[in-house]
Amino acid sequence: APRRATAKFATAAEALSTVFGYDSFRGEQAQIIDQVIGGGDAVVLMPTGGGKSLCYQIPSLVREGTGIVISPLIALMQDQVDALTAVGVRAAFLNSSQDSAARGQVERDYLSGDLDLLYVAPERLSSEATKRFLDRGTIALFAIDEAHCVSQWGHDFRPDYLALSELADRWPDVPRIALTATATDATHRELTTRLQLGQARHFVASFDRPNIQYRIVGKAEPRKQLLAFIRAEHQGDAGIVYALSRKTVEQTAEFLRQNGVNALPYHAGLDQGLRARTQSRFLREDGVVIVATIAFGMGIDKPDVRFVAHIDLPKSVEGYYQETGRAGRDGLPSTGWLAYGLQDVVQQRRMIDESPGDLAHRRKLSAHLDAMLALCETVSCRRVNLLRYFGQPSEPCGNCDTCLEPPVGWDGTMAAQKLLSTVVRLLRERNQRFGAGQLIDILRGKVTPRTTQHSHDQLATWGIGADLSDQQWRGVVRQLLAQGFLATSGEYGTLVLTDAAAEVLAGRRTVELRTEPERAARPAAGAR
Ligand code: ADP
Ligand code: ZN
Repeated sequence: APRRATAKFATAAEALSTVFGYDSFRGEQAQIIDQVIGGGDAVVLMPTGGGKSLCYQIPSLVREGTGIVISPLIALMQDQVDALTAVGVRAAFLNSSQDSAARGQVERDYLSGDLDLLYVAPERLSSEATKRFLDRGTIALFAIDEAHCVSQWGHDFRPDYLALSELADRWPDVPRIALTATATDATHRELTTRLQLGQARHFVASFDRPNIQYRIVGKAEPRKQLLAFIRAEHQGDAGIVYALSRKTVEQTAEFLRQNGVNALPYHAGLDQGLRARTQSRFLREDGVVIVATIAFGMGIDKPDVRFVAHIDLPKSVEGYYQETGRAGRDGLPSTGWLAYGLQDVVQQRRMIDESPGDLAHRRKLSAHLDAMLALCETVSCRRVNLLRYFGQPSEPCGNCDTCLEPPVGWDGTMAAQKLLSTVVRLLRERNQRFGAGQLIDILRGKVTPRTTQHSHDQLATWGIGADLSDQQWRGVVRQLLAQGFLATSGEYGTLVLTDAAAEVLAGRRTVELRTEPERAARPAAGAR
């Protein structure tokens, strides 16, 4: 039964058991909640599924007044409010999707003290009218969800969040709690400064998700590789497949369906109603696989997602961690699977070159991509690399591909020199630039209409790389790009040298490469 309009709980433990039906707190929840109930500020870094919501919901049920929750996820506010109302919490939201009658009711409830929690979109708080309105009621606390969005260096910056720095000045006596599931050291520091949380207590949980097995494979035929992976390990399981473009999303969902996987496409180009139905099927039916652009999944609480697959390279480690983090919230074994290849590097470097915004912005995108590439190319434990990125040292995990099947490194200096000198010769002797395909044909001495037309068989490097296969050379190019010896230029992705390449050509620097596993040799049985 709904509680009386003015009821508050005497203690956090009472709210936990009466409202949420749990008998104990998890991790540092109890300390975080005490800190906020006592009127102090808190910064909470906790992985997805760690239980961040209770950290502001319970203080809002104990402290006098209404907890104001700032969340960028407008689409989810209705769901969050419904879930809270269902357990007797007096919750509501204010956002642009409401009509004025609904908004009026929420405002009256707030002013008469009949709300425990009020969700608002960040842009509302930059308006003076909203602030004056909030002043007329009693604010129990401010919860700033997805707090990494205030960081300009982060992967998910939202300008509206900058206005939240004023909360401290305007309401110095109201406790504030900032929460996020992805923050590097730099982002953690930046959000602390920007949100004026210098006096806050910081609660940093381990970002490790030990039940997620991380695997990154070379990409040859992504759809077939994906199908083989699902058939071998996740037949009938719920999962999410991420791709960058709508077209790839559509084609991949179609391919999976034709091969007996219950897959549905999801991207921003589909109409709202269809997207809502797809989302609710994913939540309610068993074994639905969603193929989506990154627009899918933020804030969706489905505990038994058994795998998250990427068939295109994520743009940052933060994004990769956040997306793979949607697997295995129930703690059971799950897989984060990524297929990545040369084309991903070329394409993403080009997207960065063409992206709007100033040099600093492009540098940031580049740094994010470089970190992601380093994770892909590492010969050591993926988890160690991932956690180190978030400033958390750890030991090799035994539950990632590089731990389970350590990749073999080889001295790729000679191969690199062959390739780099081909690039140099083409430019110096012919004033020509080419992409990876043509360079590899030259190195392998492969006669094609294009090599004949340009008489590339006259080059000194013609055929000097016949010892490596086409696939191996593509691996070499990809790794040289990832390690910064090569760069791409222009819309055709032609390859150019970097300063580091000169060192390799001069013999002053060696190049360590990882062996390409033989793959694509086993297409999914029965795939059409
Ligand atoms: P986050 O926001 O950090 O991703 P949630 O707040 O959504 O995590 O919590 C994840 C899940 O764990 C939810 O289903 C929530 O009800 C559950 N949960 C949180 N705290 C506890 C607890 N103390 N005991 C049992 N379950 C909890
Ligand atoms: Zn490992």
